[in-house]
Amino acid sequence: MSLLEVKNIDVRYGDFLALHDISLNVEEGSIVSLIGANGAGKSTIMNTICGLNKPVKGEILFDGKNISGLKPSRISKYGLSMAPEGSHCFERMTVKDNLLMGAYLAKGSERMERLKSVYKLFPVLEEKQNQMSTYLSGGQRQMLAIGRGIMTQPRILLCDEISLGLAPVVINDIYEKLKEISAQGITLLIVEQDVNRSLKNSDYAYVILEGRVVMEGKSKELNVEDVNDAYFGMN
Ligand code: ATP
Repeated sequence: MSLLEVKNIDVRYGDFLALHDISLNVEEGSIVSLIGANGAGKSTIMNTICGLNKPVKGEILFDGKNISGLKPSRISKYGLSMAPEGSHCFERMTVKDNLLMGAYLAKGSERMERLKSVYKLFPVLEEKQNQMSTYLSGGQRQMLAIGRGIMTQPRILLCDEISLGLAPVVINDIYEKLKEISAQGITLLIVEQDVNRSLKNSDYAYVILEGRVVMEGKSKELNVEDVNDAYFGMN
């Protein structure tokens, strides 16, 4: 069953048409990746799904409900959460407070339960819970951004460019954690620039080029060379 359906959306920045007729389908429980080079439109897609950009055409359905044009706060209440690009966190807050911000609407005991489950997933965040987040390494900040995303107990988590600037061993570790998150029943939509890594870690993939979907398919059925050609617009 589709949890998220993006149907024929166009998004503009002023006169510039950044997304052209984009359609995506994310099945409940799956891991879907968006692959594309810098400037292809991946972040614009993610930001539009979570309500930061408004499409000028098309619609976005979450669990069958039309969410296009709604405010991000409203969309997040439906169960959609985003770990943003560049692992943004509140620098002058402790790791623990950053995480608790992700569940500010939940009751005290419920927040603590969720915090415990994030610490179980990322023990390093528990070790560093009283440190200011500004002192975390790049990988730890990414874990914090993901942890804060799951503090809302979303049905779907959007992860924008989780690998940005991280060492391969750290990236592998984060992908292992994403598999655990997926096994908990959370659907994942992940932006990734690396074709091999993307196909290896997802069930379904979309290749984005200049604001259009130029290829899609089950990750294990897509050919890496074909995807690379599509990625660079060589088809
Ligand atoms: P990256 O990997 O560099 O983040 P991306 O695939 O996420 O790239 P987007 O950031 O979505 O790409 O950008 C898509 C296009 O829209 C690019 O041409 C970019 O220059 C343009 N763009 C993005 N944000 C804005 C904005 N706020 N105003 C104007 N143009 C923008």
